[in-house]
Amino acid sequence: MATKILIIEDEEKFARFVEMELNYEGYQVTKAFDGRTGLELAETENFDLILLDIMLPGLSGMEVLRRIRRTSSVPIIMLTARDSVVDKVSGLDNGADDYITKPFAIEELLARIRTALRKQRIMPEGKLLSVGDLVMDTASRQVTYQGQPIELTKREFDLLHYLLENKNIVVSRETLLENVWGYDFEGETNAVDVYIRFLRGKIDQAFNIKLISTVRGVGYVIRDEG
Ligand code: CA
Repeated sequence: MATKILIIEDEEKFARFVEMELNYEGYQVTKAFDGRTGLELAETENFDLILLDIMLPGLSGMEVLRRIRRTSSVPIIMLTARDSVVDKVSGLDNGADDYITKPFAIEELLARIRTALRKQRIMPEGKLLSVGDLVMDTASRQVTYQGQPIELTKREFDLLHYLLENKNIVVSRETLLENVWGYDFEGETNAVDVYIRFLRGKIDQAFNIKLISTVRGVGYVIRDEG
């Protein structure tokens, strides 16, 4: 069965070019030239991956991203303009898996598509992970503490997921970057510390517990109690 990719991009010539290249690689491509049509397609058909342009007329790429993420964890790669750091950061915060800056070499796009698809495949479906009173349901992507739901962004969820899967193992920042971010984050290893802080705010501080431990000079670990 062919891998299905949806491309939401208002520059029609560019969308057709990408479609042609993706077809050549064996992907089945559907195009949408505006956000609303793209969102409708994303909500009604099953795609394996979505390429989403940020600068769209009408419904913006960011809004399309937010709405898709309410119901779906389909891998999404954002297509951003050069130098729009804000778009990149808020895209990732809103649940994009990756972004690529235009103009890009088609080989780079293909590599990122393969990475995103591979990551999606290795995500276990419907598993419950827990430590103490904290429970993560990987199918519904819900996290609760003593039954109370904890709202996490996609990145926070993925980071917590990795730490829970590697319970009692100290994980380095580099390993986290590689497995949670999945690509070179331009040397910003402190991105890990920033997101650990977000998680601690939402879990450790919110419930007055000590979930995530820092192992100085090494990395982070979530340990079973006792
Ligand atoms: Ca555009």
